[in-house]
Amino acid sequence: MSQTTTDQPVDQLELPTLSALDRCDLCGAQAYVRVTLATGELPFCGHHGAKFKEKLEPTALRWEDQTSRLHDSE
Ligand SMILES: [Zn+2]
Repeated sequence: MSQTTTDQPVDQLELPTLSALDRCDLCGAQAYVRVTLATGELPFCGHHGAKFKEKLEPTALRWEDQTSRLHDSE
């Protein structure tokens, strides 16, 4: 008997996946990018994430881009 129970796949590390409840800080669209700054977290949609990446990424502690999930459902 060496059955292992792997019914809890870890596919997102320790980070919770952005959900439909996460909304872009600027336009209110569903967020696919989460930026962690020293002052807190900012959710962005794919559009605004890309727009502010150049400006914010140098100071961001973590840049979480889940825009690839946009294409999963197509
Ligand atoms: Zn937006």
